[in-house]
Order: sequence, then C-alpha cells, then structure tokens
Amino acid sequence: VVSEAAGYMLRNHLYDFSTGVNKMSGSFTTYINTYRAPFMFSRWTGSYTDLTTILHELGHFTNYYHNPSAGWSAGDSLDLAEIDSQGLELLMTPYFDQYYGTVAQQAVSSLLSDCLYALISGCMEDEFQQLIYQTPTMTLDELNSLYERLEQEYGLASKFGPTGLEWVLIPHTFQTPMYYISYAVSMAAALELYEMALNGNQSQAREIYLAILNRPSFAAFREELQENGLSDVFDESTIQRLGEELSGS
Ligand SMILES: [Zn+2]
Repeated sequence: VVSEAAGYMLRNHLYDFSTGVNKMSGSFTTYINTYRAPFMFSRWTGSYTDLTTILHELGHFTNYYHNPSAGWSAGDSLDLAEIDSQGLELLMTPYFDQYYGTVAQQAVSSLLSDCLYALISGCMEDEFQQLIYQTPTMTLDELNSLYERLEQEYGLASKFGPTGLEWVLIPHTFQTPMYYISYAVSMAAALELYEMALNGNQSQAREIYLAILNRPSFAAFREELQENGLSDVFDESTIQRLGEELSGS
C-alpha cells in the first residue's frame, strides 16, 4: 500500500525535495485537485532527520493517494491524519539499519525521544492554554510563572532550562488555541502501534495502521481507535502502560 503510493509519487515526479537558499523551510503534503494527485514538498536539509521527515510526509501522501475523500478534506480529523504520518515513521523503525547502517539504533532513539517530547509538550501546552483562556485577566508575570511551573511539572524544564518564556514561541496559543493537544493524542495512538509491533505483533499493527489510513470520511478520532481495537488515549491507564513499555525499550 505504501510502496504503491511511493512508486506513483516517484514515477510522476509528485515531489520537490530540492535545497535552495530561497526555498521555504519545512515540509508538507497537499492535494492538487486538477491533477487529482497528492504532492509532497520538503526542503532537504542534509540532516539525518530528512528520512523521518520524508516518512512522515509519505504517510500523509499514502493516505491522500488511497483515500483522497477522507484524507484531503476539511472534515477530516487532524488527530487521525497525524496517525498516518507518525504511525508510518514508527512502524518503519525496523528498517532503519538499511538507511542509517551502524547508527540505526541512535536514529531510533532520537525518533522515540522526539515522539515522547511531542506527547508530553502537547499535554503541557494544552494545560497552559486551558488555564490562560479560562483566566483572561492574567498578567504577563503570571503567564510566565505559570508556564515555568508547568515546565517543571512536566519535566521539560531540564531540557530547555526553566525560563518560563518559551510559550511566546507557540503560535497556536495565539491563533488556534486548544489545537496543540492534537499532536499528543495522535502520538499516543501511533506509539501504541509501535508498542504492538515491538511485542511481536507487527502484522496486526500494520493492519490497524492501514485500516485507519482507509478510514471513512468524517471518521471521529476516539470511535475510529475503538473500532480498530486501540486504547482510549484519554484513559490514564493507556498513557501509564505506554510509559512503562517505552521506558523498558
Ligand atoms: Zn503531519
């Protein structure tokens, strides 16, 4: 399923991976209606993360290729769409030695660390947004000290040093509050697929991944997970179990 979409992309040159000083940074996949085809855009950086970036976008590309009505529509759930991308990155980790050779294990560890960061920071930014939008009278000092407290509480202070100021760098908080949690909920489901594959149920994890990829239009996040036998990400025991599994791997 994924290689069919990748083959279509390569044959029809539906990608732009070039470098260039004037090229927009970042990566995205879009759907060109007049071509009836997806298109992948990415600025090649030369870093080892280029591969996971391309895998991420290939997850979106595969979804748009096989299931354009659900994938490329305003009604599709972003939480589900990011399982297409994050899930593919994680399910491809057994092949990392083909790309990274002797440093494959480090590349897997780096990906897992990014995934955990997305999960934890997604919850933290959401808690911050909920609190500040409930209390619109907060002063700047109160905002900074609230953020600093949350960074400590979520264990992220040691990563950046607790300055309490990083919240200004998150545009979602200003433009699309309550959206940021999306990165965390899709990641919880993607990590469950990873956990499943790690425990020897690789084909089951792939089947569920593909079932979610081919979801019906307007599928809802929690219902779709439930239908495919995945845990409820809002159940505390789900996160607890993921944490235990991942700390052992
Ligand atoms: Zn994405």
